[in-house]
Amino acid sequence: EGKISSQPLNPQNTRNLIDSVDAFLFDCDGVIWKGDSLIDGVPETLEKLRSMGKKLVFVTNNSRKSRKQYAKKFNSLGISVSEDEIFSSSYAAAMYLKVNDFPKEKKVYVIGEEGISEELALAGFTSLGGTEDGKKTIDLRPNFLVEHDKSVGAVVVGLDQYINYYKLQYGTLCIRENPGCLFIATNRDAVGHMTNLQEWPGAGCMVAAICGSTQKEPIVVGKPSTFLMEFLLQKFNIPTSRMCMVGDRLDTDILFGQNAGCRTLLVLSGVTSFSSLRDPSNNIQPEYYTSTVSDIIRT
Ligand code: PLP
Ligand code: CA
Repeated sequence: EGKISSQPLNPQNTRNLIDSVDAFLFDCDGVIWKGDSLIDGVPETLEKLRSMGKKLVFVTNNSRKSRKQYAKKFNSLGISVSEDEIFSSSYAAAMYLKVNDFPKEKKVYVIGEEGISEELALAGFTSLGGTEDGKKTIDLRPNFLVEHDKSVGAVVVGLDQYINYYKLQYGTLCIRENPGCLFIATNRDAVGHMTNLQEWPGAGCMVAAICGSTQKEPIVVGKPSTFLMEFLLQKFNIPTSRMCMVGDRLDTDILFGQNAGCRTLLVLSGVTSFSSLRDPSNNIQPEYYTSTVSDIIRT
């Protein structure tokens, strides 16, 4: 049974938190926006924190966009954020391959959208699949065969609204038949806000399909992976004890922060309700919780 230890933000502990933190790591969906709608008070909050000299970093598990596309989204919502402040799970997948010296002559098969293929290309990798295979259909006539490229050395799986049986077969063949082929998941979120009104099946659903056919477990590169945290920490010279992870999801955001020794703040503006935070079966307790990010500056 989970111990209830998290405290609501109040004026005193908020001031304390702000004074003892140099960097805020913000999750995006459920914290900054919901789908394409900005959450109330976000631009003012971020501006205020910047004016106080705080470093801001944005970490999203949604692999559909590249960092460049996210920078555009932030700017179109009236928030100025640069590409190097953004860490998306699409970028994390490309950086995982780079850090692990994945050979440039090998290829990457993508079950996912543009963000992954774009980040792979920017990192100098050749990819197959992705949106290109989005309209592929199969024809189960006798002797029908999918020929897969033997030089595929990694399959990256993220959210794919065009997932189909051809892609499942292609990815499965690579992982089962190409020796040493890596199986990489951008993230395993159960659901996400594909639209602002409704939660939809997340990348966890696509990843589970490939787990099912290959009987293998993936390397997860998004939150809560230590890979992403270590990669991110290399870019900033700030101790994790002076960082605060702000997120709406316990098993990705809060765990991601806690595992690294960051301060943690859960906002209830996204997928976690107060009752699920307090549910006895939940054993992930953030240090603080509050309704939305704008509470940080309302003291
Ligand atoms: N993956 C998908 C496909 C999503 O739609 C979302 C949220 O919209 C997420 C992941 C979670 O993103 P974040 O980490 O920014 O909350
Ligand atoms: Ca979120």
